[in-house]
Amino acid sequence: MADSIILYRNYELNFHDNALRSEFAEWQKSAAANAKFEKHNSQITRITDQLTGALDEIKIKNGAQDLDIASSQVHQTSILGIYRIWSYFREKFALRESEHFFNLLKIADELAWACYKPARQAALDAKKIKVEERREPPLVYFSGNISPFALERGLTFFPEGIETKADARLFDSILFKLPVPLVAIPWFQLNHLPAGPAIAHEVGHIVERDFQLTEQLAEVFKALDLPDERKKLWTRWSDELFADIWGTLCCGPGYLMALSEYLITESSVVQGEKLKPDDEEHHPTRMLRLLFNEALLKRYGLLTLPVEGSNVVTDDPDDLQSLLRQPMKRWRETYEFHQMDKYEQDIETVLDGVLSQQFELFGRKKLDKVMQFDWEDLKASWLAARRMLLGEKLKESDSDFRRLYTAVVLAWFYKPEVYVNNSIHKQLVDVRLLGQIPKGKRGHSGISTSAEEQKKTDIAAGAELFDMLLFNRTVV
Ligand SMILES: [Zn+2]
Repeated sequence: MADSIILYRNYELNFHDNALRSEFAEWQKSAAANAKFEKHNSQITRITDQLTGALDEIKIKNGAQDLDIASSQVHQTSILGIYRIWSYFREKFALRESEHFFNLLKIADELAWACYKPARQAALDAKKIKVEERREPPLVYFSGNISPFALERGLTFFPEGIETKADARLFDSILFKLPVPLVAIPWFQLNHLPAGPAIAHEVGHIVERDFQLTEQLAEVFKALDLPDERKKLWTRWSDELFADIWGTLCCGPGYLMALSEYLITESSVVQGEKLKPDDEEHHPTRMLRLLFNEALLKRYGLLTLPVEGSNVVTDDPDDLQSLLRQPMKRWRETYEFHQMDKYEQDIETVLDGVLSQQFELFGRKKLDKVMQFDWEDLKASWLAARRMLLGEKLKESDSDFRRLYTAVVLAWFYKPEVYVNNSIHKQLVDVRLLGQIPKGKRGHSGISTSAEEQKKTDIAAGAELFDMLLFNRTVV
């Protein structure tokens, strides 16, 4: 009797295993060149290869045939663990089956990739990351949270079937081992492209973690020539400040504008916000945060048009000039004062410290040598913004998504009524921005690894994932 029970169970386990393998094959097919998910090729291939490696390991460790009941139980829960991990990614890819989300997420992914790629390339060029450590373009998805966030920040998630914090943390660490960083944006950004530069900030968090900048950043903050009390707070905010710097290096004034809109709240909140050295909050107060980003833009000459710029850029340079200053002017007029003004004097010291640092993983390059938004970018964004508002076609040269998103923000701040009345959002998403995305897969250029080599490494990495699942049985 026991024999026949286990016989059925073993058949079942084989079905579970095969079902997942054939699903992986289907997804890989859908991500082939010219197929619908071509842009997700490296993400889908690498995740499913690693999970296939984990499935192989389950078979090797447990023996595929003739399991007794106890080991078949372990076998089953291990497969369930793989299902859970895959389902976490699958739902994000599957959302793109809907044409509506497909377009929106495709352009958001393109911005995330534009913000991530130069950092990854710098680390690859410097030969500082191994094949198995290399991660693919970030995957953007929608979340119910009010603010955008990156999975990389160690936030705890509760995926289906996982109920305790410890299990969720373990799930996080397994997800982090997989080669695709995730960026969540709030659902309500769905119809408001000008909020998009927040993605650049979230990619900043991923860049800090993926390229192991945290330790060096900590050294920078430790060495700042500031009074201890104030230094303590600046240090507490260091990961958020880094992500803000990255956001500005990616999208220039577009980032500050988007942030200034996102941080709007009641006057009493902005005027009363005060943080003490022992407060756990990782973000500076709203006003201080904006002033920090404003100082960064000033440093790169992105708040004042260069003299030669006035003629080149447009027939109404004053419009651009006042547009660039508009967000902070509005904030100062609306909120008038804040409680952290003592910290304003530190901003340049903090910026000097971070921007003069040469980061090891980037081959000792400074941040602004890895990522930069300069006057040429701003000029191109402004011209594209005007084309957007006039409903004109974008130029072929408008294919840089950091510039394009900045253009969207400039268009929105410049003529909000035209932006709304002419349904610019719909035009941009459905035709103009999508049309600017180059054909082909993401993530493959500048990589010396062959596809076979990569597959081998990923399948081997799957065995490690299996060990994590097995040694932490509570997750399954
Ligand atoms: Zn952040």
